[in-house]
Amino acid sequence: MTQQRVLKLHNSLSGKKEIFQPIVPGHIGMYVCGPTVYSDVHLGNCRTFASFDVIYRYLLHIGYKVRYVRNITDVGHLTDDGEDRMAKGAKVAQLEPMEVAQHYTVGFHDMMRIFNTLPPSIEPRATGHIPEQIDMVQDIMDRGYAYERNGSVYFNVIKFNQEHPGVYGQLSGRVIDELMAESRDGLKNQEEKNHPADFAIWMKARPQDIMVWKSPWSVGFPGWHLECSAMSTKYLGQTFDIHGGGNDLKFPHHENEVAQSNGACGCSPANYWLHTNMLLLNGKKMSKSDGNTINPPQLFTGESEHISKSYSPMAVRFFMLQAHYRSTLDITDDGLQAAEKGFKKLMDAYNTLQKLPVDARDFDGSETEHDRAILALIEDAYQGMDDDFNTAIALACLSELGGYVNKLANKQLASGDVAPWVIERLKTVYHTFVFDIFGLKDEESKEDSGTVEGLMELILDLRANARAQKDWVASDKIRDVLAEVGIQVKDGKEGVSWEKN
Ligand code: AMP
Ligand code: ZN
Repeated sequence: MTQQRVLKLHNSLSGKKEIFQPIVPGHIGMYVCGPTVYSDVHLGNCRTFASFDVIYRYLLHIGYKVRYVRNITDVGHLTDDGEDRMAKGAKVAQLEPMEVAQHYTVGFHDMMRIFNTLPPSIEPRATGHIPEQIDMVQDIMDRGYAYERNGSVYFNVIKFNQEHPGVYGQLSGRVIDELMAESRDGLKNQEEKNHPADFAIWMKARPQDIMVWKSPWSVGFPGWHLECSAMSTKYLGQTFDIHGGGNDLKFPHHENEVAQSNGACGCSPANYWLHTNMLLLNGKKMSKSDGNTINPPQLFTGESEHISKSYSPMAVRFFMLQAHYRSTLDITDDGLQAAEKGFKKLMDAYNTLQKLPVDARDFDGSETEHDRAILALIEDAYQGMDDDFNTAIALACLSELGGYVNKLANKQLASGDVAPWVIERLKTVYHTFVFDIFGLKDEESKEDSGTVEGLMELILDLRANARAQKDWVASDKIRDVLAEVGIQVKDGKEGVSWEKN
């Protein structure tokens, strides 16, 4: 699609829906806070990244050139005890922090592939941008919004608030007095600060810190909030179009990003702030500590007390699409079962539609009520997406369109009831929504399983040849490698067979 549509986005800055105006017509810069790679990505993270994936896909579909930056946080995100999450993970496992980061980054990428999310245009790592962060600390100090104490540098929230009334607190909607009341940067040496609300942008290393760099102030490390300010500025400019993340990041992370950018260059980082809502499990916040949690592999295998069976990645993605990204989403076994059925229905309608004959001779040329209804539903699906990316509405429209497909297939509607060009348009739109915008995949695709069958035939032929030549090493290796990828080879009386574990 080349023509761009009018988009309305809910901007957390104003708390309202606004008509989207890009800074440069036709182009969008979008930054989304990525994962902190100190543990396996959880389902809540996946919801947020899947939501921004659909947003990215839709922006591309309606013709924007999008630079999508999603970072990897591998330093500076402290625990409540003031310890770096990466370093803590590394100490526990007796690994280098970068080994921990690499391990969980690979796991994160695997999970993003399983959920069929598109890779971002740039995926910068915090540890790869220490000079940019040091420069930004210096810029903030030069403009008078940060001060040094014993080798650490603190953002001066009080001064910033006096000179920019109404800015600090606007994004998270918090009352400034509340924000000023306590410290939230996880540091123990609070007495160094002018005020508890000030936050560290550079921290002097303590003896236990192992991820450290030289800076003009001390050997230390950057504050967590700084990485996103420095990397978004580097790749998208001082002010860019869209900044996203989960709504638990509004405060302090995003609020501090706004302060840092204003402090460094006098400008707001993003024009539109988009926040996803949280994923719940059985009506309660997912939490590892009280056992109310489920991770993606458990969903795929069914090994969890919270579910009665396994669910495929696309059934879970469909489940997520059924809710608007700003609504909370409650994972329940019933909800997943309904989503599994809904996903199957959608794919069945898609497959039926592709096979529908389009016979121009049946049509007398005049527009029918069914033509109008189908075209209106297609426009409603688009308008749902234009209205702050409302996937719930778009999915409902597709489901209604599926009803027309079934009526045409079982001849409740004659082929002359719908104009050939309307059927062609329906085919294109269905394909576009299901695969390009919603990012779903046909998990039972004949093409895929046909390819696997063909490959397995070839591999088992090679193994049979090896065995015929008594090359047991090669034959065992083929069996073992297949086992590693989850395919079990069985040598039975009737020959060789295989199955997926
Ligand atoms: P983290 O790795 O904790 O920095 O989080 C990565 C992203 O996942 C952030 O945008 C978080 O806001 C988001 N996130 C964390 N928990 C949840 C949840 N339960 N539901 C939805 N998004 C979440
Ligand atoms: Zn961030």
